[in-house]
Amino acid sequence: MKKFETLKLNKQIVKSILNEKFKEPTPIQKAIIPPILNFLDVIGIAQTGTGKTAAYMLPLIHNITRNKSSYEKRSCKSLVLLPTRELATQVYENAKKFSKFLSIRVTLIVGGMKPTPQLKSVEKGVDIIIATPGRLLDHINTKGIDLVNTTSIVLDEADQMLDLGFFPAIKKVYKNLPKKKQSVFISATMLKPVRALANEFLVDPEEINLSPRATPIKKIRQMIIFVNKEAKLEKLADVIEEEKIYQAIIFTKTKIGADKLALALKKNKIKASALHGDKRQGQRNKILKDFKKGVLNFLVATDVAARGIDIEDISFVINYDMPMQAEIYVHRVGRTARAGKSGVAI
Ligand code: ADP
Ligand code: MG
Repeated sequence: MKKFETLKLNKQIVKSILNEKFKEPTPIQKAIIPPILNFLDVIGIAQTGTGKTAAYMLPLIHNITRNKSSYEKRSCKSLVLLPTRELATQVYENAKKFSKFLSIRVTLIVGGMKPTPQLKSVEKGVDIIIATPGRLLDHINTKGIDLVNTTSIVLDEADQMLDLGFFPAIKKVYKNLPKKKQSVFISATMLKPVRALANEFLVDPEEINLSPRATPIKKIRQMIIFVNKEAKLEKLADVIEEEKIYQAIIFTKTKIGADKLALALKKNKIKASALHGDKRQGQRNKILKDFKKGVLNFLVATDVAARGIDIEDISFVINYDMPMQAEIYVHRVGRTARAGKSGVAI
């Protein structure tokens, strides 16, 4: 059994991990922590809920403690990019936990929040910026953030970050980075064409793929229910009752669909709220917080919640509308059965 102590991480980092009650590193953590510590380019693919966040965040923090260079104004040493604000916030909270016993400056830069406090937080320079690409580029354009000293970049949910929607933004970010840098690409899924796109950014990467094809983890019991479209809502309410589902994420195809379904469930006295990109960020945060606390039982979401979100004890994921891509399915159902637990996908 390889313990965290053997990974050559800073003692204060190990202390923070033990504080989190992690007993031993997960396979992806064992595999990619050493090459990231060695400042190599890395592609790390591993199934949902297997601890990929710590797998890149721990060595990133360690490398910062090693590199004692002083802070440059409006700069960061490491940059982590994520596709959604919720996910960026979650990773920010993780970074805070893992650097609890160190004096490291971590900043969150996401849309939907006032830009001025963000600019102030990076004014004197920071160690790590955790961001969504859009808002980061806004700050780069107005010279509020400068990436000339950023020597490590991580793309979490990398295949989505290389997808059409984000690709131009990622290219722009790369144009602002120095020549000599480390790139780390992380995901649970990576189709071949997307993997090929990654070559544009990576130099001789260490490639660790613990999930060669997009597959849901074994601990998820997968079910399918055949039902006519008109009877879908009623069936959903029945299933919730029959299976005694206390909390679940229910995925819909569209924002309007999410709103409609949440409303219909509420009429059936089922505590549900919709989460999607047309809601104000304040609302989005509150809904997710209530769901995490268990105050809210059903989160009806678009694919904005399909990736990365880590909520303990979510044992059910319901695809009210089927996803059209296998990868999206894998990510959606991966909101359950995390960190060794089991779950059900319907
Ligand atoms: P992924 O990004 O692979 O989907 P996360 O990084 O979100 O997974 O981690 C999933 C859960 O596993 C988190 O709640 C995290 O705290 C927990 N976790 C991570 N590493 C370990 C570990 N070594 N031992 C136990 N739990 C862990
Ligand atoms: Mg993740």
